[in-house]
Amino acid sequence: MIRVQHVAPRSVGAELGLMPGTELISINGRALEDFLDWEYLSADDCFLLLTRLPSGEAVEYDIERPEGMPLGLTLEPPRIRRCANHCDFCFVDGNPTGLRAGLYIRDDDYRLSFRYGHFATLTNLKPWDIERIVEYRLSPLYVSVHAADPAVRRWLLRNPEAPDVVAQLASLGGRGIRFHTQVVLVPEVNDGPQLERTLADLYGLGDPIMSVSVVPVALTEFSKHGLVRQPRPDECRAALAAVGRVATRALGERGHPWCFGADELYLRAGAALPAAAWYGEFEQRENGVGAVRYLETRIAAAGGWPEGLAGARVGVVTGAAMGPLMPQVLEGLTRATGATFQTVTVENTLFGPSVTTAGLLPGAAIRAALASRRDLDLALLPAEAVNDDRLLIDGVAADDLAAEMPMDLRWSYDFVDVLAVEGVAA
Ligand code: SF4
Repeated sequence: MIRVQHVAPRSVGAELGLMPGTELISINGRALEDFLDWEYLSADDCFLLLTRLPSGEAVEYDIERPEGMPLGLTLEPPRIRRCANHCDFCFVDGNPTGLRAGLYIRDDDYRLSFRYGHFATLTNLKPWDIERIVEYRLSPLYVSVHAADPAVRRWLLRNPEAPDVVAQLASLGGRGIRFHTQVVLVPEVNDGPQLERTLADLYGLGDPIMSVSVVPVALTEFSKHGLVRQPRPDECRAALAAVGRVATRALGERGHPWCFGADELYLRAGAALPAAAWYGEFEQRENGVGAVRYLETRIAAAGGWPEGLAGARVGVVTGAAMGPLMPQVLEGLTRATGATFQTVTVENTLFGPSVTTAGLLPGAAIRAALASRRDLDLALLPAEAVNDDRLLIDGVAADDLAAEMPMDLRWSYDFVDVLAVEGVAA
């Protein structure tokens, strides 16, 4: 069941008398289960919409709207599909107690995989989900493969019912769906020959598999450490060698590397990152693949920096993973803007020092790092660290943090989004 949360003023929906709380029941007789049904079935300019108003009255609308004009309805957030797995490396288990409730939800939702690029395992698909994926052309999907060998994958997912993912990908691929895939690397489980097999099997599926990334498993102080551990540098180097062999073959046969190591894999291996051109369209940058090179590319391509930036003193807050790499990223920014940039590397005091990504930095740690920095005019903070309600992972409000700090704060994905647009009020 889906329900209207907001109706835009002067929209088609408002003219029809739709209001917040209205249930959207069916279109042309087809029941509406979720936002996907709504978006795809309401795409036509003429259709019959059955609703139930908040008063309980059922009303059917014969909708004819000017071509392309939106109905102006915002739906209530969807109910998230819960995960059927119990991975030892699950981030939910790695959370300390006392965080907000939403952080303890294990989601595994192909709809969010399509919409937002979240990785899903496809282990909870029902036959009608598969038909919807094909009918609505939910492509590309982002899929956590981890291992092609079903027994190894079931062990990693702690799910004895997990279907053979290679067969799933082949079947959906044959029906027109494309995939970006990932392997979360767990040493002595899916590395070595298992990794070789996984990469070979995925490569063998041909065009439907658009890319594969190999990402070292991330554990916090609170994770289960009994059966999984983080890879050592030599294990990361071995994984990169396997990635390199497949990428070399793909370059020759397909004209692009296809197979990528996450930035974190290079960092742990002590290896240099490939050049920006290696990553093509940076399609897995949200997964930490090519994220550093993407930043450099964005900075190099930006123009029209505000004159007021020259001489500004800017702190760039990041996690321990990016800390050592940030100076080389900021070099280009310094040259382009004339501002002075300093890296402020913040250790994760909530999850422990093994969690090094900037997107999981708690507000308390940022506060401690910046509170006495009166030498900065501005601090750029990782925008991935705040959610839609502008809260950090530990519940600290972004606005409260900004009010307490001695400098201006801006939340930024790639520096260019803030500096090239707003400049600095020195
Ligand atoms: S697939 Fe594994 S890591 Fe992802 S939410 Fe489920 S249990 Fe957690």
